[in-house]
Amino acid sequence: MLNALSVDIEDWFQVGAFEKTIARDDWDGLAPRVARNSEAVLELFARVGVKATFFTLGWVAERNPGLIRRIADAGHEVASHGWDHQRVFTMGPDAFRADLLRTREMLEQAGGQKVTGYRAPSFSIDKRTPWAHEILAEAGYAYSSSVAPVVHDHYGWPEAPRFAFRPVKGSPLLELPVTTARLAGRTLAAGGGGFFRLLPYRFSRWAIRQVNGEADRPAVFYFHPWEIDPGQPRVADAPLRSKIRHYSRLGSMETRLERLFGEFAWGRTDAVAAAESARLG
Ligand SMILES: [Zn+2]
Repeated sequence: MLNALSVDIEDWFQVGAFEKTIARDDWDGLAPRVARNSEAVLELFARVGVKATFFTLGWVAERNPGLIRRIADAGHEVASHGWDHQRVFTMGPDAFRADLLRTREMLEQAGGQKVTGYRAPSFSIDKRTPWAHEILAEAGYAYSSSVAPVVHDHYGWPEAPRFAFRPVKGSPLLELPVTTARLAGRTLAAGGGGFFRLLPYRFSRWAIRQVNGEADRPAVFYFHPWEIDPGQPRVADAPLRSKIRHYSRLGSMETRLERLFGEFAWGRTDAVAAAESARLG
């Protein structure tokens, strides 16, 4: 079973958790680390021999076109994570359409390959944005991986299907929700991010085995370049909860990832989307 591996390419100061602490206008004045951290991710993937999808901010691509080209040249998929991490439910349909277009143009110009996948910042496609999938379908995207079918303080669409579905009637657009697991009647986030770092490794292994085995479906997993960077600057005045989530166990992340890559089969999200699409018919 081929599972979808992805990296959301954003810098340490662009994460949703620090949104209220660091203004977008200040981003250009902060020390960038996304290029060096993404190069480290590329090295890690080369070492273990996996291909993945890089959901990339247009803002990052504009400042690091060489990085985007190296990602594409190494055989990975370059896909869209929006321009500057604006959550979809904070934009109206017109702003969302413009954000998609601007980002895709930048990514295609930098990477030299067609962009067919999209991941909403902070999984921000939910019941508040019934228009979002329609706009993605109109724009010709093959798939979106933007829904977290869980209850969570920052995001979530608990009523959404847990596995691949077609969100727009009459359109081939596929939504590949991030991985969840079922435990004692509850649906738990199990697709990466803070959960992967904070909980014991065996939780993630159990969850992916459940998804691949019992459910017979591919897992959809993600992490960020800043998660393998223990040397990143600390945001002192962020909420404590955000700081715990952001800074815990950064030093052991790479080893943990290597273990995960060794135990399951991983590939690009577009490949997994195509397989799921064929299954749905
Ligand atoms: Zn993100």
